[in-house]
Amino acid sequence: MEGNPAVTDSVTAFDFSALPVVDNHLHPYVISHGKKRYAPLNSFLGMPGEDEATLAHRDAMLYQRWATRQLAAFLSCDADPEVVAAARANQGDERAWAERLFRDQNIEALVVDTGYPQPPLDMCGYRAITPAEILTIYRIEPPIKALLDAGVPWDEFVQRFDEGIARAIRDEGFLGLKSIIAYRTGLEIDISHESDAAGKTGLTHALSDRDDMMASKPLRDHLLLRALRLAVDLNVPFQIHTGIGDRDIVLERCNPALLNSVLKREPYRDAKVILIHTYPYVAEASWMAAALPNVWMDLSEGVPFALAAVDRIFATALELAPINRILYGSDAFAGPEQIWLGAKIAKAALARVFSDLLRKDLVTEDEARDAARAILAGNARVLYGVLG
Ligand SMILES: [Zn+2]
Repeated sequence: MEGNPAVTDSVTAFDFSALPVVDNHLHPYVISHGKKRYAPLNSFLGMPGEDEATLAHRDAMLYQRWATRQLAAFLSCDADPEVVAAARANQGDERAWAERLFRDQNIEALVVDTGYPQPPLDMCGYRAITPAEILTIYRIEPPIKALLDAGVPWDEFVQRFDEGIARAIRDEGFLGLKSIIAYRTGLEIDISHESDAAGKTGLTHALSDRDDMMASKPLRDHLLLRALRLAVDLNVPFQIHTGIGDRDIVLERCNPALLNSVLKREPYRDAKVILIHTYPYVAEASWMAAALPNVWMDLSEGVPFALAAVDRIFATALELAPINRILYGSDAFAGPEQIWLGAKIAKAALARVFSDLLRKDLVTEDEARDAARAILAGNARVLYGVLG
């Protein structure tokens, strides 16, 4: 045979499986057993329920099948969804089980968005079953809803909104802020709603028709801009949901590029903004992380749920974004297995992607190893100020 037989398309030059992980975006959960399908092996998409048609719909998703096989191998049981659910339910002590999973993937810290689910879960219960450093992020939409429900006048509305944010950061241990305005009125933030006068008018509109979500757009735009300014003052990172989500996402208004005009101007360009998820707009987000001074991109949700796209997601993020602006996350919402599955596929994908870049002589071995370490943990530790 001619040439070098050792170098083929399938060679993976790296093994990142032992690298530490800081999961930069996920949610607290309670564990529930007794279903035919074990919840963490569900994709975040797919209709809920356990009737035959629903199960068949979800079982036809690649993520679901792969996740079931992975957990079956870890549990040494058949890769049948019901067998896996039963074997998992028999693991006994929840914390000890999570410890096994986290040790397997060297999961060190979790950056938890406590805004989902609603009403919020008891964090003491979550911490009791979760053997990792837990860092929390404060979501601005639950207080907005509470203040709208209370129907308070403008001065009181903004005073309580601002104080809630300041208290969360200064007294309640939250490390950053989060908005899901993409689920409400979309990411096309109109800068003309920046002033207090515009916010006050916006509140009147929002209260005039609570059933029409778009009636609250001027108010929500104002409050997002306001919270971004507070994040600059408090010097904390700000996560913004972008890209796909659950069924109630405003899909036509969730491209992170829609934030570009706000994030490039003063004072918002000084806010440390993390574009959460970004999939399927990973290329746009990669450009923003490269072109704007304080933008990071997170790859959770696409990783691991868009299973067949995971390699491409990492490769696309690396196209333009500086290596120190790319963050790994799992978007886990149902159990520690999702944290484990996310880390597992991310490490394997990063190894394949960097092997490919190495083969093309676009990175050195050292650069690849340092980059994988940074994306999986180091960048989040610097950004959230929690050096391990
Ligand atoms: Zn999430």
